[in-house]
Order: sequence, then structure tokens, then C-alpha cells
Amino acid sequence: MDVINPATEEVVAHVEPTAPAEVDRLIDRAATAFPAWRAVAPGDRARLLRRFASIVDSHVEELASLEVRNSGHTIANARWEAGNVRDVLDYYAGAPERLTGRQIPVPGGVDITFHEPLGVVGVIVPWNFPMPIAGWGFAPALAAGNTVVLKPAEVTPLTALRLAGLALDAGLPEGVFTVVPGRGSVVGQRFVTHPAVRKVCFTGSTEVGKGIMAGCAEQVKRVTLELGGKSANIVFADADLEAAAAAAPAGVFDNAGQDCCARSRILVQSTVYDRFLDLLEPAVLAWRVEDPAQESAQMGPLISARQRETVSSYVDGADVAFRGGCPAGAGFWYPPTVLLARDGSEPHWREEVFGPVVSVRPFRDEADAVRLANDTPYGLSGSLWTRDVGRALRVARGVDTGTLSVNSHSSVRYWTPFGGMKQSGLGRELGPDALAAFTDVKNVFISTVEG
Ligand code: NAP
Ligand code: MG
Repeated sequence: MDVINPATEEVVAHVEPTAPAEVDRLIDRAATAFPAWRAVAPGDRARLLRRFASIVDSHVEELASLEVRNSGHTIANARWEAGNVRDVLDYYAGAPERLTGRQIPVPGGVDITFHEPLGVVGVIVPWNFPMPIAGWGFAPALAAGNTVVLKPAEVTPLTALRLAGLALDAGLPEGVFTVVPGRGSVVGQRFVTHPAVRKVCFTGSTEVGKGIMAGCAEQVKRVTLELGGKSANIVFADADLEAAAAAAPAGVFDNAGQDCCARSRILVQSTVYDRFLDLLEPAVLAWRVEDPAQESAQMGPLISARQRETVSSYVDGADVAFRGGCPAGAGFWYPPTVLLARDGSEPHWREEVFGPVVSVRPFRDEADAVRLANDTPYGLSGSLWTRDVGRALRVARGVDTGTLSVNSHSSVRYWTPFGGMKQSGLGRELGPDALAAFTDVKNVFISTVEG
């Protein structure tokens, strides 16, 4: 597999896809490593994870520049992403000593619960956020006492491979955290079918996610799905329009729009629709699309030529309001583009574009805004802008998504739950309860009746 720098189209590395027999050998090794890893004393497992976090911390620059070359992420974003792996490891390093069960009152004895690790957990990662999404899976899985096999996306394997090396440097035993590069149809599929893998944690497209879920049903394998999105950014007439317009580009164009949480539909109350577009235009034109290694870059290229074709297919023939600029020449560049949706039947309004394209549409009133926001099979994220606190809460409760932010486009915080409603996913990652998804509850009754 040739790894391409999307900003230059140059080959930066060659990674050998893992052959099927080797995938099985690595899964078997993870299964063999499991009993000893789950038996590591909670404080010792915590210390190993903290050491892993601290080694990641001392390699943030290296990991970030690797991600800039592999994924075309801006250097500022890539530093945040490497730091996120460190922080998620640190956060879940606090979990082993706190993985407490309950004591439930029963007659004739004592009833206690245990949170047992599952065994081998398979994590399947997409190309859009290679480091954070890997960490959201492997950190809580390891903290709970599971061993992990992780498949990075074919096009973005480099940082995951480096993280596996850093885990060994931190003293994690061989086989506890293994990165298995290769094709989804080979490596990812084997995580689904191999009986030793007891849970699959999948992030990617809704289409592939449905197949993973169906495949896992065969063995009643646990599964978490983080899938696509078509999130709404709802701007009410009473909002701080200047702030809403200034924030809108970052809400959708960050990571070149290749973000499952991208606020790719802007709903604007009709009375301020024209005013909002007037304010949005200069903000979009000022959005800096350039060499992602430049400190000033706000956006780099798309991941691949294929992704650029997909994105342009949504814009061809659409009603373009205005668009920003981007470099010419080598690299998979695409300019930030603002489209107008007329009746909501437009594919760019309905489907996940996964590029720097946003659709704008007016709405009448609060009920209309909620109805339009919910008129999608997705339910991942969203934002709303208003000065009315009652309306903020009503609309936040009314929009069917897993996360929402008011007067902001908050990104994912590792200490709060993240995940989708409807076809955006199943289960939640991150936050205080993540370990529940990497453990099974065991209930034990001990008789105290005199024999
Ligand atoms: P994708 O095509 O579904 O691929 C995701 C991962 O699954 C890749 O590692 C891929 O491997 C693997 N895969 C593909 N086919 C497979 C199969 N049959 N069995 C097992 N694994 C398989 O998604 P993508 O195009 O990389 O990523 C974009 C999508 O991810 C978007 O829809 C986006 O919204 C979603 N996403 C969701 C979240 C969230 O948290 N909700 C976060 C980020 C992205 P290959 O690389 O070999 O294809
Ligand atoms: Mg794909």
C-alpha cells in the first residue's frame, strides 16, 4: 500500500498489507496476551497507561508532522490530535482502580457485580481522524483489561503504527496493543468473523457499519458504531449573528469538512437570512486553505483524488452562493463552497458530502427549524445560535442527535459522552461511562446461610 501525501501527491511510505494468515496469528497473540493483561494489578495497569500517555506527550511534534504528511491535516489540528491521544490515555489511566461494581441487598447472602473485560477488542478506524479515533477505542479498552487489535484506514496507517511502537516503549507487553494494517475487506472483516475478537468498535460510513453490525450478529459479538452525519447549524433571528457567521466556517470546513460532526447544513431564520449570508461571505473568503504544514493554515487538501471527485459531484449543477480559494497544482485541493438549498431535495442537502461544502436554507419558526434539522436519517451532532435560553433548551431537546452545542461548535471532549442517534451510530464513546462498553457485568451471589 503506497501512502500518499495529499498536499503534494508524493509517496511518503510503503506499508505492507497484513496477509490473512498473519492477521489470524496477531489476533491469536492478542488472545494469548489477554489473561496476563487482565491480571495486572489495577494500579500497575494505570501506571503503564500513564507512561504510555507521557511517551505520546514527548512525541507530539513527531506524530503531528507524520499526520500532516499522511493526511494533509493542518499542523495545528495534528498537534491537537496527538495531544488528544495523550489526554484520552491519561483520563482512562484513572479507570482501573475505579472500575467498581455494586453490592445489591438480597436475602440469605451477598450479591456483588463485577465489570469483566471482554477479551480481544477489534478497533476499526477511518482515515479522517486517524489518531483521536484510534485512541477513543484503544485507551478505554486497555484500561478495562482487554487486549486490542487495531486496523487503521488503508490510506492513513502511519500514526497508528507509530503509536503501537510507543506503547511497547512504555512497557505494555507484546500482544496487548497491536496495529494490523491492511484492507477493510480482509483485516477489518476478520475482526468481525474471528471468534477470539469479542467486540468490534467501528468508526466509518453508515453503509459499512451496517455490514459490520450484521456480521457481528453471527456470534452475538458486541459492537459500537460511530457512523456518518449531516449535522445542522441552526441560526435564530435573535442570535448574535456576527458571532454565528464568524464561527460557521470552522464548524464545517475544519479538516476540509472530512468530519463526521461537520455542521454541513446551515438553517437560518428567514427574517435574517440575507443579513446572515452577507456576514458569512467574508468569513468564508478569509478561510485560509494552504500548505497544511504552515502554522497559519486553517485547512489543507482532501484525502484523495477519489474524495475530491465525490465532493465535486455534489457541487456540479448546484446553486453556488460563493466560494473561497485554494492552491492550484499538485494536491487534492478543493475550495470552501457555500451552496443554497431550495426545497431540500438536493443531494448536497440530504447526503453526507464529507468535504468543504455547506448548504444553506431558510426556516420560518422554531418548529420548522426542528422539523428540518430532524429530516435526515442521521443524528450525530449539531449547533444552535440564540440568545433565548428557554429556546436553546427546547431546541436542544427537540433535535435528535447525540451531541449538540449552543452558541458554539464545540468539538468532541474526551470526558463527555460522544456518539450518534438514528443511523449515526450505536452506543457511546468517551466520557465517564465508556468502560461499560468494554466490559460485561457479572453478577455473583454468595450464600451466608448457616450450613
Ligand atoms: P469506511 O469506508 O466505512 O471505512 C472505515 C474503516 O472500515 C476503514 O478502516 C476501512 O478500511 C474499514 N472497512 C471498509 N470495509 C470494511 C469491511 N467490509 N469490513 C470491515 N472493515 C471495513 O469509512 P471512511 O470512508 O474511511 O470514513 C468516512 C466515514 O466515516 C464517514 O461516513 C464519516 O461520517 C464516518 N465517521 C464517523 C465518525 C463518528 O464518530 N461518528 C467519525 C469519523 C468518521 P479501508 O481503509 O481498507 O477501506
Ligand atoms: Mg471507504
